[in-house]
Amino acid sequence: MLDVRKIRLILELRELGIANSDVLSALETIPREKFIPENYRNQAYENIALPIGDNQTISQPYIVAKMTELLDLRNNHKVLEIGTGSGYQCAILSKLARRIYTIERVKNLHDKSLNIFKELKLTNIVSKYEDGNNGWVEQIPFDRIIFTAATENISNKIFSHIKDDGIIVCPIVRDNRQVLIRYEKKNNKLVSKEFDDVLFVPNLKGIN
Ligand code: SAH
Repeated sequence: MLDVRKIRLILELRELGIANSDVLSALETIPREKFIPENYRNQAYENIALPIGDNQTISQPYIVAKMTELLDLRNNHKVLEIGTGSGYQCAILSKLARRIYTIERVKNLHDKSLNIFKELKLTNIVSKYEDGNNGWVEQIPFDRIIFTAATENISNKIFSHIKDDGIIVCPIVRDNRQVLIRYEKKNNKLVSKEFDDVLFVPNLKGIN
């Protein structure tokens, strides 16, 4: 049953413009239902965001695919994710890069995602319970950084944690909307390009 829905979802993502076949195979490989509370599991392969508890959501598959595609990952990349949430986006990244460092500020979500990573044997993910806005200093520099909560701007601190030619993908709050932006660090400057309008939970300071 889930398999038919999964195939339909992959076709839908293609139609929506996701062209990178490695990204699509990662979405085919990772069981999204594992990251979703039981009462929503029958909707795991619908192209919608779903609640994961603690007032947070697992993003829509299209947005996960789009953000992953924008990161332009290589299998030797070291990636930082700010906002583990359910861990789904992170699991997708783990199939396409060498190592993912992921930070979550809600203890309960951090703990739950650790268990799923273990169950799925995703051994190239390293997780931390902290305010992700501090980055992961022991591991800098990163090839790629992804924010999965809406942020006002990229701080100088985070900017300094990415390599030259590195990419940051982030939902940015702009007036009354949020826009998905891809930043490339070129000659120590960020060059930005706007993509889809999105709706993410806010990036919050401190831990919970
Ligand atoms: N990538 C997730 C969805 C993200 S929801 C998934 O696939 O399920 C965004 C997450 O970012 C939430 O869990 C929220 O608690 C977390 N978050 C918000 N601000 C944060 C911060 N400053 N540091 C770390 N995590 C943060």
